[in-house]
Amino acid sequence: MTPTQNISLKPFHSFGCEVNAAYFTTIESSQSLESALDWCKQHNKPFLVLGSGSNMLFTKQVDALVLKMEIKGIQKTNETASAVYLSVGAGENWHHFVSYCVQKGWGGIENLSLIPGTVGAAPIQNIGAYGVEVKETIENITAYDTHNGEWVKLNKLDCDFGYRNSLFKKEKNRYIICKVDFCLQKQPKLRIDYGAIREVLHQKEIQNPSLEDVSNAVILIRTQKLPDPKKIGNAGSFFKNPTISKEQFEALKIKNDDIMAFPISDIAYKLAAGWLIEHCGWKGVKKGNIGCYEKQALVIVNYGNGTGQEILDFSKEIIQSVLEKFGVELEREVNIY
Ligand code: FAD
Ligand code: NAP
Repeated sequence: MTPTQNISLKPFHSFGCEVNAAYFTTIESSQSLESALDWCKQHNKPFLVLGSGSNMLFTKQVDALVLKMEIKGIQKTNETASAVYLSVGAGENWHHFVSYCVQKGWGGIENLSLIPGTVGAAPIQNIGAYGVEVKETIENITAYDTHNGEWVKLNKLDCDFGYRNSLFKKEKNRYIICKVDFCLQKQPKLRIDYGAIREVLHQKEIQNPSLEDVSNAVILIRTQKLPDPKKIGNAGSFFKNPTISKEQFEALKIKNDDIMAFPISDIAYKLAAGWLIEHCGWKGVKKGNIGCYEKQALVIVNYGNGTGQEILDFSKEIIQSVLEKFGVELEREVNIY
């Protein structure tokens, strides 16, 4: 294995910042992963796993071997009267996989249409959208445990999935995911409770939606509301929606009658971080190359030549102003390097 040296990562992440990696290689198989990790050991260099870079912010040069995950393949491993079991390579494009399943009539991930990225990265933050999380369809994950140099098969419970969280986020850089096993439904129960999906289906006068109708509705909403990373650099939601106690929510509600919040248990609420940021006056604000997207305040955008450090500084200003106005500390969702 001979890595490419001193390569620009600009085309390999969706913020499009100008940053270089000291070493770079693509990983097409478990064998190529093992040789790349051997190389790191021999040369005493760290590694950095990269999918398609749609949830990464590079704030400095990467003095590591970048492992760009390219393991492909979608294999049907089992089928019953009601379900289909699929084993998918970590380097498969997530949206292509969703479209493949929708076309076949296999349900469970249609609400996750058009999320950028790879299949292998989907479990990292347990990707979610429109009331669905990927954990609901994951059966097992095959990964290389870099702490003890062994291949492991982790089941759903091992993965410790939470809201935009998992074992892989908690134990950062420990596991390299090579394969994800899914179970999809042949007679799926569609999830159309999010207002935006219902609205589109209503506008199109669709009363009994198919998997394809739901997927198309999600694609339409996302295309209209989110910046296309091919045109404007971004990494989707920059911050997580914060969870607060019922008491804190009730206190906030007195002063902010229209605050956007959702009960998640008897004692906790999820706040829409985008609403908080917008109500601090950030929506559409531009500072040099960096801005807060005009259609969704949760998205920080790089209008051209912004650096990762400028984006990080901009995010700090947002965190500070939300803390001052609402007493809530936002946590970044994006992975910072
Ligand atoms: P990368 O950005 O390359 O990596 C993300 C992290 O995972 C890094 O820490 C990396 O080291 C690690 N990693 C990647 N692959 C592996 C692997 N095989 N093994 C171990 N570690 C790995 N996210 C949502 O949850 N819901 C959304 O609706 C959503 N919408 C988005 C919309 C836009 C326009 C954009 C730009 C992003 C959006 N995201 C969303 C965020 C992003 O798409 C997801 O987090 C996605 O899963 C990232 O995939 P990736 O391959 O680009 O990962
Ligand atoms: P939105 O519809 O403007 O809603 C704002 C927030 O309110 C969302 O984050 C969502 O939380 C929450 N919400 C809305 N309706 C809800 C309901 N019926 N029940 C519970 N929570 C509800 O959001 P948006 O920005 O356009 O995004 C739409 C969906 O795509 C969301 O699910 C969002 O997570 C996802 N998305 C994620 C990213 C990312 O990078 N992570 C980027 C773009 C879009 P949840 O986020 O918990 O769903």
